[in-house]
Amino acid sequence: MSERSAKIFIAGHQGMVGSAIARLLQKNGCENIVARSHRELDLTRQSDVQQFFRQEKPNQVYLAAATVGGIHANNTFPADFIYNNLMIAANIIQAAHQYDTERLLFLGSSCIYPKLAPQPMREEALLTGKLEPTNEPYAIAKIAGIKLCESFNRQYGTDFRSVMPTNLYGPGDNYHPENAHVIPALLKRFHEAKANNKREVTVWGSGSPRREFLYVDDLASACVHVMGLGKPSYDAHTSPMQQHINVGSGKDIPIKELALLIAKTVGYGGTIRFDASKPDGAPRKLMDSSLIQSLGWEPEISLEKGLALAYQDFLNPRTHCR
Ligand code: GDP
Repeated sequence: MSERSAKIFIAGHQGMVGSAIARLLQKNGCENIVARSHRELDLTRQSDVQQFFRQEKPNQVYLAAATVGGIHANNTFPADFIYNNLMIAANIIQAAHQYDTERLLFLGSSCIYPKLAPQPMREEALLTGKLEPTNEPYAIAKIAGIKLCESFNRQYGTDFRSVMPTNLYGPGDNYHPENAHVIPALLKRFHEAKANNKREVTVWGSGSPRREFLYVDDLASACVHVMGLGKPSYDAHTSPMQQHINVGSGKDIPIKELALLIAKTVGYGGTIRFDASKPDGAPRKLMDSSLIQSLGWEPEISLEKGLALAYQDFLNPRTHCR
């Protein structure tokens, strides 16, 4: 069924990723998008999810709902990160099978790969080593989501796909000072330092970890692209289980350089101090995105441009009413 005529459920349509997917599908002319706010539908409750699928019977599902956060939030709320994400994935993937969803796209994360995986990380690196301890519970839930998709495909012939985005940022991000990811946290910290004429800003960790970043609209275009690809020929007996696809920008930078770029974006001219008592997390996270590139997708937005767009979103008064 074509994208325009399909009934499409975006789980997590109010989040940064889900809202970017919704914007793109609307731009592409999709009129039959179904969505529910968190208050209307608690995706961790199996009976509620079942009832929703029985009623709506979506043809396509984007599974972008998740409990997410930065290194501090993952370290502080491990039970929420593993429980909520396991329940959301299990409930939606099972209901999509039961109510004959034609195609589902599950969104994972680059933290599924071992802490010391060879860089750039290829899809085959999954389950080859120990995970980064600061986000292991979240990563285990995301690995379970991939394996749910693969197992339903293998046993029932469903068409459930998975993409693994690198670190994301952009409009709709969470700017919480402690629980946010590094880009929104630093946009806010540098902005407030500039506004209050503070001469020093603290950045967590040593500044040496390297991270890859992708603007969320680029991820949305990758998701819609992968959803639109023809069904892979799949033989349960001979095909490998591994079917997830990396989505990254292909470039990583040290946190120290990122901090300088954010200071420039915001117009902050003071000093930057690194607080080594805060965790660094994985030393490097760069994805090998050659598979999705071979399937015809490329990112479009550079980090400099993306940071400027993200800062505009931060400055928009409506952002802080969400
Ligand atoms: P991670 O990729 O799961 O480690 O995600 P984060 O975005 O939370 O952190 C990325 C890196 O940025 C880590 O090395 C952090 O220590 C570092 N970092 C520096 N300052 C901050 C900050 O204010 N907030 C967060 N979340 N990370 C920071």
